[in-house]
Amino acid sequence: MITFNKPFFVGTESKYIEEAVSSLKISGNGTFTQKCHRFFEEKYGFLKVLLTTSCTTALEMIALLMDIKPGDEVIVPSFTFVSTANAFVLRGAKVVFADSSRDNPNIDVSQLEALISTKTKAIVVVHYAGVACDMDALLELTHKHKLYLVEDAAHAIDSFYNGKALGSFGHFAAFSFHETKNISSGEGGMLVINDPKFFARAEVIWEKGTNRASFLRGEVSKYEWMDVGSSFLPSEITAALLFSQLEHLNDIQSKRMNVWKTYSTLMQPLIAAGFMSSCSIPENAGHNAHLFYALCKNFEEREMLLKHLAHHNIQALSHYLPLHQAPYHLKNSKPENLTEAVRYANCIIRFPLYFELSMDKVSQIVACVKEFYNFEKTLST
Ligand SMILES: *Cc1c(COP(=O)(O)O)cnc(C)c1O
Repeated sequence: MITFNKPFFVGTESKYIEEAVSSLKISGNGTFTQKCHRFFEEKYGFLKVLLTTSCTTALEMIALLMDIKPGDEVIVPSFTFVSTANAFVLRGAKVVFADSSRDNPNIDVSQLEALISTKTKAIVVVHYAGVACDMDALLELTHKHKLYLVEDAAHAIDSFYNGKALGSFGHFAAFSFHETKNISSGEGGMLVINDPKFFARAEVIWEKGTNRASFLRGEVSKYEWMDVGSSFLPSEITAALLFSQLEHLNDIQSKRMNVWKTYSTLMQPLIAAGFMSSCSIPENAGHNAHLFYALCKNFEEREMLLKHLAHHNIQALSHYLPLHQAPYHLKNSKPENLTEAVRYANCIIRFPLYFELSMDKVSQIVACVKEFYNFEKTLST
C-alpha cells in the first residue's frame, strides 16, 4: 500500500525529547521553544514568531489580536480548511467567501474589491500547495481599504514570493506543523506577527492573558491578568520534536522537491495530451513541494481515478469541500455560486508525496494513472 502521507523522522527526535524531559522543564516557552523562534526569525526574516498548539489556534490568536467582533466581516477563500473561517466565526464575525482564481486554487484577487464593505476588517488568504497568492495586488488592495492582511500559510513553510518568505507579507500569518505538513511536530503551529505594535499583546494572549512571558524575562516581579487570552503555547516536548525537524529542513525540502519534479516530468505527457490538467505556478512563486496534484475533467472521472488507484493500493485524495456550501454555513446563509472553488473541489486529485517515497514508487503511481486513461495505447494507435 502506498499511503498518501508518511511522517518522516530525522533521527534526533527522541534525543531532543529526552533532553526536554530530563531538563524537568516541559511546559511551554522554554529552551526548545526559544530555539524554534530564533530559527524562524533568522531564516525567514519574520519579525516575531510564537509557537502555538496548531495553525488553528494561531488563527484564533490573530482574530483576538485584530479585535474581531460581532458585526465585523472577514473575507476568506471558500476553497480552504474550516479553521480559516472558524477562527473568525468564533469571535462572532461574518465570513464573506471569495472564489478561487481560474489559474490555481488561490483566492481570485480581482474579485475581492466587490466583496469589501464598511464592515470588512480583514482579508485572509491561503497559499494553496505552498504557491504564493498575488501578494503585490493584495498589499495594494488592503492598504487602499485599510484592512488587515492575514496569511493562512499552513501549506507554505519555506515558500517564497519574489524571493521573500511567505508569512512575512501580511500583518499576521499562521503556519501548521500538523503530521500532514512538510515539517511536523504531530500537532503544532506558529503565529507570525509582522507589525511590532502587536508584539506585547500577542505574548499576553499567548500566555492565558497574563504577562508571564515578561515575568520570565525578569521585567516584572509578578505576573497577573492583563487581557483576554487562552492556552495557546505548546509544551517543550512538542517544541523539541519540531526543532529536530528544523535542523533538517533543507534536506527535507530538497527531497520533497525531487519527488515533486519527478511527478511533474512523468505526468507532463499526459497533461500535454489533454487527459488531465495542471495549475500554473507563477514565476515569482518559489513553492515548497507541499502537494503534487492534477485536475480531472470532472467529478465523476476524478472519483473513478481515485477508485482505480485505490484498487492498485495507491492512496490518492481529493481535497477541500467548498466552505460556502458547508452545512454549518448554509444554516444561516443563502447559497452562492463560486464556480472555481466548486471546480477545484470536484476535480483535484492529490498524489502521495513524502520524504521516503522512492522515485520507483512515483513511476509506479504515474503508470497507474496512465493505465486509467489508456494513455500508452492511445499513443500507439
Ligand atoms: C492544515 C491546515 C490548517 C490547520 O492546521 P492545524 O495545524 O491542523 O490546525 C489550516 N489551514 C489550512 C489551509 C491547512 O491546510
